[in-house]
Amino acid sequence: MTSTPTRTEAPIVEVTDLHKSFGSNHVLQGLNTTIQQGEVVCVIGPSGSGKSTFLRCINLLEEPTSGSIKVGGEEVTDPDCDIDAIRRNMGMVFQQFNLFPHLSVLENCTVAQTTVLKRSKEEARAKARENLEKVGLSEKADAYPAQLSGGQQQRVAIARALSMDPQLMLFDEPTSALDPELVGDVLSVMRRLASEGMTMFVVTHEMAFAREVADRVIFLDGGYIVEEGDPHQVIGAPREERTKTFLQRVL
Ligand code: ADP
Ligand code: MG
Repeated sequence: MTSTPTRTEAPIVEVTDLHKSFGSNHVLQGLNTTIQQGEVVCVIGPSGSGKSTFLRCINLLEEPTSGSIKVGGEEVTDPDCDIDAIRRNMGMVFQQFNLFPHLSVLENCTVAQTTVLKRSKEEARAKARENLEKVGLSEKADAYPAQLSGGQQQRVAIARALSMDPQLMLFDEPTSALDPELVGDVLSVMRRLASEGMTMFVVTHEMAFAREVADRVIFLDGGYIVEEGDPHQVIGAPREERTKTFLQRVL
């Protein structure tokens, strides 16, 4: 009999005892989790529970008060850590799309590639076109953000992030600012990304999306991970009272 290979993939992100306070407001009270390559993790929870702060600590948009965050095995809170290099490996999509209004859709998707990654214009354009096609917006390459719907702008923001070839995509309520009829297109793009194996950390209020697409759901409340696990269990059959109460309010 051959022995089972013992190759263990290091997690892309490893969070250990993460605390974050703003003044006397102790927002994150000791979070522990890992994100494995190819995993889709959705974070749900009430407004003000610390979801955005959690996500923003992962790429150091917020500095943790204490605890450890390792990305690709590197401690991001270490002063010697090259945080720009780490951020380059993470695409970030916010509730507000933050496109450059004076740049065309194509230019929005090429500017960081040429300035940060030093890619040639041709290479950057080719990459941008590939990702615009992926989000269904090839025909809008020469449009300006103001000429697009919110849903289209958010899909451009996703194409822009993907054009940096990130290892991990962070989404903070990407559909919360959209009119209801525009939410579906953005979620379809995210579904497709997930099915292609992208590693994703998604703060969302879209329970149907979390249930279908997530490999794991984290329910955050009051700065604690109250419950974490298979989406069908956490959303479909929550164990904790606080999870039940939250889900009764949103479902
Ligand atoms: P959620 O995304 O779950 O709604 P947040 O992470 O945005 O929650 O906020 C959690 C708590 O942290 C809230 O009490 C909020 O007021 C506080 N908070 C978030 N960001 C800041 C900040 N930059 N400065 C001070 N307080 C903040
Ligand atoms: Mg938030």
